[in-house]
Amino acid sequence: MNWNTLQSSLQGDLFTDSTTRKLYATDASAYRELPLAVVIPKGEKDLITLVNFARENKTSLIPRTAGTSLAGQVVGNGIVIDMSKHYGKVLEVNTEEGYVWVEPGIVRDDLNKHLAQYGVFFAPETSTANRAMIGGMIGNNSCGSNSVVYGSTREHLLEVRTILADGSKASFGSVGTDQLLSIQ
Ligand SMILES: Cc1cc2nc3c(=O)[nH]c(=O)nc-3n(C[C@H](O)[C@H](O)[C@H](O)COP(=O)(O)OP(=O)(O)OC[C@H]3O[C@@H](n4cnc5c(N)ncnc54)[C@H](O)[C@@H]3O)c2cc1C
Repeated sequence: MNWNTLQSSLQGDLFTDSTTRKLYATDASAYRELPLAVVIPKGEKDLITLVNFARENKTSLIPRTAGTSLAGQVVGNGIVIDMSKHYGKVLEVNTEEGYVWVEPGIVRDDLNKHLAQYGVFFAPETSTANRAMIGGMIGNNSCGSNSVVYGSTREHLLEVRTILADGSKASFGSVGTDQLLSIQ
């Protein structure tokens, strides 16, 4: 793989050294597998570049936030994408309609510290809520001891903006019947 070309097209950082790869070879599970490389991306363009690079080089991407998964979800032999460093912003709080737009690398408890001023909170809680980030909570559909009352993450997820395997952008959310028929 042409790592030099990849690094030159990224705003963030690419690591292929063995120390960094060893650091990212595990999560909170018992599994261990050395990734090919680790990227700490910056900005949306880096993510599109990584998706295109992985497709062209027939390798996989392993998005990672806090890495507290218990079943090896962020362990693998592809390229680990560490979203915890540059994607931790709250983008919009809309108290009238009751939603908040966030980036995937915001820690769940930090989000609630921010929301406290509006008198609302993001309900799903894991035991690891002071580390776990929203991207990982969506990936795992995380919930906690109050899930009987509050439900799990998917019950609070309104829309997700993603990058598909061909590098195009797509949003997923619920649609009404009229909208569904117009899509078809
Ligand atoms: C001691 C302990 C207690 C725990 N207790 C609970 C509990 O009470 N309830 C519970 O539900 N879980 C629990 N967990 C598991 C884990 O902490 C949670 O599921 C947590 O929410 C995962 O968040 P994370 O940021 O660590 O995600 P990660 O482990 O980093 O990632 C989780 C998944 O999300 C995917 N992902 C992350 N970011 C993105 C992104 N930007 N795009 C696409 N995919 C992405 C990853 O690829 C992975 O598949 C516990 C774990 C430990 C170690």
